Amino acid sequence: MQPMPEMGQSAMDPRDATLVEGLLAANRRALAKAITLVESTRPDHRQRAQTLLGVLLPHSGRSLRIGISGVPGVGKSTFIEALGMFLIERGHRVAVLAVDPSSTVHGGSILGDKTRMELLSQREEAFIRPTPSSGSLGGVAEHTREALLLCEAAGHDVIIVETVGVGQSETAVAGMTDCFVLLQLPNAGDDLQAIKKGIMELADLVVFNKADIDPVAAQLAAAQMRSALSMLHPASPNWLPPVLTLSAVRKDGLKEFWKVLEKFRDTLGASGEFAARRRHQALAWMWQLVDSGLREGFRRHPAVRETLTATAAAVEAGSIAPTAAARRLLELIGQQE
Ligand code: GDP
Repeated sequence: MQPMPEMGQSAMDPRDATLVEGLLAANRRALAKAITLVESTRPDHRQRAQTLLGVLLPHSGRSLRIGISGVPGVGKSTFIEALGMFLIERGHRVAVLAVDPSSTVHGGSILGDKTRMELLSQREEAFIRPTPSSGSLGGVAEHTREALLLCEAAGHDVIIVETVGVGQSETAVAGMTDCFVLLQLPNAGDDLQAIKKGIMELADLVVFNKADIDPVAAQLAAAQMRSALSMLHPASPNWLPPVLTLSAVRKDGLKEFWKVLEKFRDTLGASGEFAARRRHQALAWMWQLVDSGLREGFRRHPAVRETLTATAAAVEAGSIAPTAAARRLLELIGQQE
């Protein structure tokens, strides 16, 4: 096989060489700075970020990537903090990232509040990154993927990507993690909603939190969920998503949760699905970037910029068919439909 030519790699900025050194030495400040660089949209920053990621990529990939989703108030931050502390006690290094579409819409972010995960954020072995404050969902998720790789290069072996149950964010998080965990409240109706939204198909594990409030209700909800899940087509032929109950506040059930995650990793590791998921995710990420790059290039094209507003208005007014409009626009950049 021909060796791949080095693509898009240029000499490293001396500032970034220091950053790489610090990051590989597990320096939290260096990691935070590197993430800020990859989140920047400035073209010179993008260039530096690409070089940085190219250098650090061989150091990434050695973590368990866990996606955690649930509606606001379900107890995500309480749970992540408890789990994070539990894992640190067992010698792990934990990073927490977030994909939060609501932060771009409402200006509030799931990790923006500094008082959240106070204990965890004080630990050297933990790294918590608030949600990026700007960008489309695609953009935010894209930077979260890059941040995830940087955290791995900095030696974090458990990465938690948190999201709220809104829009496309769950799909985005499931598309960048190894194990997707759905956090639920033991209230009737919640599970049905998740099934309706098609989220259940993404779940590798379902957890009912706040089981301390009414343990019987929690067990009942879990049993109902188990029977609902058994009727769905599982994402993996070797893994029927388990359903657990726990109390994040009382730190009850964390041990069992971690045991299930380890079993998940071992089972899907042995069947080859774990590696296959990552390969598939890497390729999907590439295509997503190609798509968004093409779209951006299209919008920037001088001929398109000249006519786009008028053409869009004509389509809205019904004076030109969408098909004809798309064909004309694509012809402007020398593309066939
Ligand atoms: P998030 O919005 O999903 O991050 O939820 P939070 O972690 O902020 O929790 C929302 C509220 O639920 C807080 O008042 C927590 O103290 C409470 N909470 C979280 N986990 C539990 C639990 O296991 N049991 C009880 N009783 N309350 C909980």
